[in-house]
Amino acid sequence: MGIELASASRVAAVKERTPVIATLCSHSSLQIFHGARHEGLGTLGIAVGKPPRFYEAFPLARPDRFLSLPKLAELGRHAATLQREGAVIVPTGSFVEYLGPTAFNALEVPVFGNRKVLGWESDREKEREWLEQAQVPMPKKFANLDAVDGPVIIKYYGAKGGKGFFLAKNPEELADFRPTGPYVIQEYVVGTRYYVHFFYSPLSEDGYRVRHGSIELLGMDRRDEANIDELYKLGAQEGLRRAGIRPTFVVTGNVPVVLRESLLPQVFDVAARIVDTSVDLFGGMVGPFCVEGIVTEELQFKVFEISTRIVAGTNLFPSGSSYSDLVAPQLSTGRRIALELKRARAEDRLGEVLS
Ligand code: AMP
Repeated sequence: MGIELASASRVAAVKERTPVIATLCSHSSLQIFHGARHEGLGTLGIAVGKPPRFYEAFPLARPDRFLSLPKLAELGRHAATLQREGAVIVPTGSFVEYLGPTAFNALEVPVFGNRKVLGWESDREKEREWLEQAQVPMPKKFANLDAVDGPVIIKYYGAKGGKGFFLAKNPEELADFRPTGPYVIQEYVVGTRYYVHFFYSPLSEDGYRVRHGSIELLGMDRRDEANIDELYKLGAQEGLRRAGIRPTFVVTGNVPVVLRESLLPQVFDVAARIVDTSVDLFGGMVGPFCVEGIVTEELQFKVFEISTRIVAGTNLFPSGSSYSDLVAPQLSTGRRIALELKRARAEDRLGEVLS
């Protein structure tokens, strides 16, 4: 038996009626609705203003109905109705960011996964504390600018899409750094990025066991980050800086990748440690999450970030990836969420996967 995240009264309607998967019309909604429909669940698209027209082009991923709001902040006013209708909110990066973590946390509607994770993920210091406790390899952190002894990336707190991050190849280049807010200084890890999509099921009794459940590897991608990924076309960074262009890491798309098979034990070990520690810290990170790291030439996977919910890179695999094909056929992360919800409902364990 796992950990109860939600009370029986909060999940009562999800038990009594066919659950309705609800999410914001953005980010990974197509895949989430597609997976829910595949599993016979209801679907509700939450839109600000008119629902996006692109759903008309994707009949298999169109939600059954829409809730159109003038502002997302009004969602709370519909909470009682949504709860009565058996709605289950699937959080995405956009959903949490646009509504704000505090308002999201206060929603009186069952949320898939453990909403306590929000407080740990949204704060860079707390996230580092979690990863340090999990003893996973990370880029080195410098206490101040004087301590820098090699290439660094300087990240602002809460910077969306890495906007305004400062890169310095050596301590001398820090002379150009003009801070515009609180920041952290990290070793710039030279290597190849991998964004690894996992799913933690507290209900599962087989597979790669972690605590009272198990983790599954469902896919992997690399993010296209503008304009840094195209930097090579314009020459070295100094040239760009002279031209007044600052490299940014705003994500514009995703490409599928696979990892050298000999590196899989390392990423599974890292993911298992992160989940294991999350159980001790706040009752566990349930459902989809992404471990984001850089593999160095020494073949070490250094984690620079974790996303504690479905990431948009999973949109690459609506009918399975090189990894999820080996777990079950046609298994997307969206469908995996629906399957977990159905299982929890059948086994009367909804309180372990909803919060
Ligand atoms: P973050 O906001 O931490 O997810 O970082 C945004 C992007 O910056 C990542 O997707 C990477 O491309 C890059 N990045 C972050 N941390 C590092 C690091 N320590 N070394 C090299 N690149 C990094």
